[in-house]
Amino acid sequence: AKSQGGNSYQFYVANVDQRIRETKVLERQLATAVEDNQLQLVFQPQVNLVTGEIRGAEALVRWHHPERGMVSPVEFIPLAERTGAIVAIGEWVLKNSCHALRRWLEAGFHNMTISVNVSAIQLHQSDLVGMVKRLVTETGIPPHHLMLEITETAVMENVDLAIRLLKQMKEIGVQLAIDDFGTGYSSLSYLKKMPMDEVKIDRAFVQDMLEDPDNGTIVDAIIQLGHSLGLSVIAEGTETLDQIKYLQECECDVAQGYYYSQPIREDSFLTFLSNQRTQ
Ligand code: C2E
Ligand code: CA
Ligand code: CA
Ligand code: CA
Repeated sequence: AKSQGGNSYQFYVANVDQRIRETKVLERQLATAVEDNQLQLVFQPQVNLVTGEIRGAEALVRWHHPERGMVSPVEFIPLAERTGAIVAIGEWVLKNSCHALRRWLEAGFHNMTISVNVSAIQLHQSDLVGMVKRLVTETGIPPHHLMLEITETAVMENVDLAIRLLKQMKEIGVQLAIDDFGTGYSSLSYLKKMPMDEVKIDRAFVQDMLEDPDNGTIVDAIIQLGHSLGLSVIAEGTETLDQIKYLQECECDVAQGYYYSQPIREDSFLTFLSNQRTQ
């Protein structure tokens, strides 16, 4: 048993070693993923819970790795944040999101918004305000159709700086959503100071809110709180009609999740929009 333990320990070390090496390779490849045209955006519809209309979509990035196939953003975004590649990736995502939005508006879908994820590093360590201003001007999109999703942890990293930057964003005219709400440590008093337009309830609460009464109560409470602060509220990760009905009872404004659609490519999203129009 002793020698077996020794072996499994060696195996474990070798494994960790290999994983560190693999991570290093991935990090290096990530540095050129933008210029190598390996990134793609997919779009997940967001549905108005009162009218049933699609009000917009969240842009989600995908990395098509030459050998590994699709690498999940859950895996590569943290690496990109560590190496700083997130700045170039984030710019690519924002730019392509603005262009996608412009195409949708030009196709006659006038009320569309596009929600774009912004990481903490992007907010604090790059001239995000300047970049957004430039991209809005370059693409000529109406700025209030662009919604930046910022996690509460990103904001809490440096609250004073975040508030200052977010106020500059509001001057450009873009909308701001606080993402993954409820999972971080933001205090409610900060939420009031932040120039937010929307609160996004994290999937973790939505997922089992009908099975776990505590989460049901939390979801209801976030919706009431958001409304009392004058914000609209969106629930992510809605998978069933029963969840949609519960959210409607709680007067949640918008929902996004597999019940309506997975994240899809732009051509499919436009088909989705056209089908709704002819319904
Ligand atoms: P997120 O911002 O919380 O995005 C929602 C995630 O939930 C997406 O995963 C989406 O595909 C997934 N999802 C949506 N509806 C459902 C549902 O009904 N059930 C379940 N089980 N999952 C659902 P995805 O696309 O893998 O993205 C994961 C995370 O990666 C995102 O979480 C976000 O934090 C990050 N991410 C994605 N794209 C970007 C990006 O362009 N920039 C940055 N900084 N982060 C990104
Ligand atoms: Ca998001
Ligand atoms: Ca989330
Ligand atoms: Ca709230």
